[in-house]
Order: sequence, then C-alpha cells, then structure tokens
Amino acid sequence: MPPLDTAHDHFGRRATPSHPEGQSLSAAAALSATAARTDNCVFFFDFDGTLAPIQDDPDAVQLAPGVLETIADLTVHVRRVSLVSARPVDFLRSRFPGIPLTLHGLYGLESQYVPGETITYPPALPWAGAMAELARRAERELPDEVLVEFKRLSVALHYRSAPHLGDTVHAWAQEQARRHGLRAQEGRMVIELKPSVQRDKGSVVAEEIADFSCAWFFGDDLGDLAAFRALATRQAADPNFLGVRVAVGNPETGAEVAAAADLHLAGPADVPAFLREAMKVLPRRQEPNRR
Ligand SMILES: [Mg+2]
Repeated sequence: MPPLDTAHDHFGRRATPSHPEGQSLSAAAALSATAARTDNCVFFFDFDGTLAPIQDDPDAVQLAPGVLETIADLTVHVRRVSLVSARPVDFLRSRFPGIPLTLHGLYGLESQYVPGETITYPPALPWAGAMAELARRAERELPDEVLVEFKRLSVALHYRSAPHLGDTVHAWAQEQARRHGLRAQEGRMVIELKPSVQRDKGSVVAEEIADFSCAWFFGDDLGDLAAFRALATRQAADPNFLGVRVAVGNPETGAEVAAAADLHLAGPADVPAFLREAMKVLPRRQEPNRR
C-alpha cells in the first residue's frame, strides 16, 4: 500500500470536526486541494520528533534518512518551506545547509529568512542576560543527570536520561518561572523556560500564513498544538483557506497531538515517503522558492 494510503488508513481517519467542509480530510483530498494552491502554499515542519528521531543527547540528533533530500525537493513544489522549532536557528541551518528554508528558532524568538541573517524577535532581546544567568543557576542547582541546554534566549532542561527526575525538574522550573516571570513550555522529557514574551508556534504560523491560502503543519509534540490551532483559526475566518495538520506519532505525548490532527504518520522515518508521494501530485513550480 502506498504511503498516502497508509497515512490515511492506518490511523483511523476521522478528521477534525472543525474542517471547513465539516467532513473527513483524507490525504488524497488534502493533496488535490493543495495541488490547486501550490503557488500560495507553505509547508511547516517541527524538527525534533518530526523530521529527526529523539535522542538522549539533543546535540546528537540527526535527520531521519531521506529527509534532507526530500525537503530540498519540496522547496520547488510549494511557495515556501519553513521550520518552526525550539532549536536555535544556527542549529537548524546546520542540519539543512544550502537549502532555501525559512527558519523559526526558539519558538519564533529568532528567525532566518535568508541564509546568514538571523533576526531576533525584538521583545525578547532584553531577556538575554537573565536567561544566561538562569542557565548558570540550573547547572548549579539541578542534579548532574539533568542536561541544561542554554539557547541564548531560552533554557531547556532535559531529563530523558533520568526520567525519575521529572518531578524535581518541573518543580524547579515552575519556581523559577514564578519568581522571575518566565514562561515554562513542556515537551517530551524536557521543560523549557522562556521569556514572558507572547511568542509561540501559533503566533509564528499565524503571521506567516497571512498572505497564503494553504498551509500544512507537521508536528509531534504539545508545542505544535498552538500551530494546529492557528490553522484552524484561519480556516474558521476564511473558508477558502486550506489548513492541514499532520501528527507525527510518538509514544509520549502523541495521543493529544494525534487527536488534533487531520492526518497521521507513525514517526519521522515515514515523513520522506509521504512527501515523495505528495510531490507526485503537487506540480513543480517554475519560479524559484522565495521567502
Ligand atoms: Mg517536536
């Protein structure tokens, strides 16, 4: 069975009741609607758990086989391909060298539209000093098994290699959030402390889709739900807008993400095959990818 049918049949196809036509959205229907809109369509992807399998050490994470080539090819089929991730832009760029992607790092606190030029979301700039201090405090106060990842404008606390420390990490993070006015974002065996700036995957996606008539979002984790909601909000306001939410399965927080999605893939390894099938339906655009 080809991957599109797998995506459609394997995971129970019901779809979002909020879909504008009020009916199930199959992969085939979504693609044929997209094929009519490729000049005005953006494909968004989360990174960890969506394009790359999760690892204990976040620095060791690599793309699933075939993702790099497939994403590169996709850029000539749709107007824009964007990554929206908790990772810094520099990390995302390192995994996709030379490919014309729009990159939104740190949940949109930094963005790169053209290689080499990273823009910091201005309201986040004043927080840089406080976040560096927070990272130093985390290193001092949390058990050694907790991996503290300092990302310039946020601090991620990973406890994947020591799941029994989850409660300790959460309690510490909540205390810091309360005391210093930070936001705590939960993920898969990670909690991330961020400036209390109103910026998440939902606001990034809402901004980017303003002049598009079609958007797909591929995500695996709780932070991606805001992006799913941004597509639903736009669809509710604009019946001509096509939004497609794709859940990439994971055994931890996957059920909640799957419940909010139109289509379902089993894991990052299945993304390239799905996109290969999709590109058979989506016409190749003549003009080069623009931002
Ligand atoms: Mg993810």
